[in-house]
Amino acid sequence: MKTDIQSILDKLGIEANNAAFSTGNDWGGSLNSETINSFSPVDGNKIASVGVASQKDYEGVILKAQEAFLFWKTVPSPKRGDIVRQLGDALRKNKEALGTLVSYEMGKSLQEGFGEVQEMIDICDFAVGLSRQLYGLTMHSERPSHRMYEQWHPLGIVGIISAFNFPVAVWSWNAALALVCGNVCIWKPSEKTPLTGIACQKIISKVLADNDMPEGVSNLIIGDKSIGELMTNDIRVPLISATGSTRMGKAVAAAVGARLGKSLLELGGNNAIIISEHADLDMSLIGAVFGAVGTAGQRCTSTRRLIIHENIYDAFKAKLVKSYGQLRIGDPLDQNNHVGPLIDVAAVTAYLDSIEKCKAEGGNFVVEGGVLKGENYSSGCYVKPCIAEVKNDYKIVQHETFAPILYLIKYKTLDEAIAFQNGVPQGLSSAIMTLNLREAEHFLSNQGSDCGIANVNIGTSGAEIGGAFGGEKETGGGRESGSDAWRAYMRRQTNTINYSHTLPLAQGIKFDL
Ligand code: NAD
Repeated sequence: MKTDIQSILDKLGIEANNAAFSTGNDWGGSLNSETINSFSPVDGNKIASVGVASQKDYEGVILKAQEAFLFWKTVPSPKRGDIVRQLGDALRKNKEALGTLVSYEMGKSLQEGFGEVQEMIDICDFAVGLSRQLYGLTMHSERPSHRMYEQWHPLGIVGIISAFNFPVAVWSWNAALALVCGNVCIWKPSEKTPLTGIACQKIISKVLADNDMPEGVSNLIIGDKSIGELMTNDIRVPLISATGSTRMGKAVAAAVGARLGKSLLELGGNNAIIISEHADLDMSLIGAVFGAVGTAGQRCTSTRRLIIHENIYDAFKAKLVKSYGQLRIGDPLDQNNHVGPLIDVAAVTAYLDSIEKCKAEGGNFVVEGGVLKGENYSSGCYVKPCIAEVKNDYKIVQHETFAPILYLIKYKTLDEAIAFQNGVPQGLSSAIMTLNLREAEHFLSNQGSDCGIANVNIGTSGAEIGGAFGGEKETGGGRESGSDAWRAYMRRQTNTINYSHTLPLAQGIKFDL
């Protein structure tokens, strides 16, 4: 059955022309100036237009956010948590509509669209509990009748810059935590997926207004990297949480670093699964294929490299090739399909370019790629997932191509496999498939994977919100979501209280008058 996109848009309040910014229920921005047209990669149709915020619009949003922070930080944290709980409930009610819009605007499968909204609900649940657990430590003072402890205070405005491939979940990972911590947020979604951003802003604004919260607690601003640059250079935004390419992350880190602000960076990955001779090959196959072709290879955690033991290399390659022959590529809203489109034609060009570069370096394609043509692929964004045998040190293998290209690398010893796994500039997600305890533990030890995420008998793709998410090296070092990632959204203050009758100095220093 064909999805009725118009009714989804109506439900989420997406109009033919949408305003460029919002501080809550107030929407604004010059509709007549520059606009972004959002086209669906599913069928190439224009979904809607959105205004682009000007510098003046940006100033207005900052002032509202500053004002709102003065109030929001005085709301007790459990009460802020209760508002985030209501956000989770509102997302539950809108899961189908928002998940469908994610799928239609971004191109991921409907199931993954729903999964992304589920992740938003989960992080809201997590944040509700967190709102009562923003713990600091107490310490023993070296001075008599003194008490020393630390507490955590909000930072102020948290700027969230997000990528197209998780158009809504990344916002919620940041916003749910930042809000319970007492911050206000300004979100600049990807210019490739502005409509999902508008839908989320409408949902949260209603929740905030229902609780009589002022404008400016949760803000949205639409634009390309020039709006992002206004945020990164702005001393009034103490924390920038930026998700996107390593190229973008380097620019953000330089701008924020130059003003000694804080940045939380979630950048590119180049993720590998080591498939040992002791692996369960059926499990490995599912992990590898889902990791490589899910979201058409456009996840930061997508599996880009398989490092396979020489004793099972040919057998596993044959299984892979067979399973690629069974993949159904097409409309991601049709749940019978496994693989949807790439985000746009520029991504298709980058995919083709990487295939050419791989061939030029000596890559042997055991499953050929190519662009699909015909009525079902009218957007021009559908490509064939492909597989190439390569060497790990090829330039193209070292590079993250955001597309379903899977590289196969053969290994002899586990240490060699780990060296391949670590031998790329990025350090996000990694995995080993093995039923051998020694191999698994070695991979997880400090002689093993150098990534932020290291899994055993699970692929590289996807993560639960309960753990801290992020990676090392060119992935940027940031951690979001679960565990104690909340600390990035707060400032730590150490407090010492003297309740004695004298003023002893630290380190035994004497200062008599
Ligand atoms: P991108 O870098 O092109 O854009 C991401 C965002 O950054 C957009 O909102 C863009 O407008 C903004 N931006 C670009 N240059 C900027 C600058 N100089 N200053 C401020 N803002 C700027 O990335 P994309 O193509 O949307 O997303 C794909 C990339 O994101 C991949 O590399 C992927 O691995 C990465 N990603 C990483 C994670 C993670 O958690 N590590 C999650 C999702 C995506």
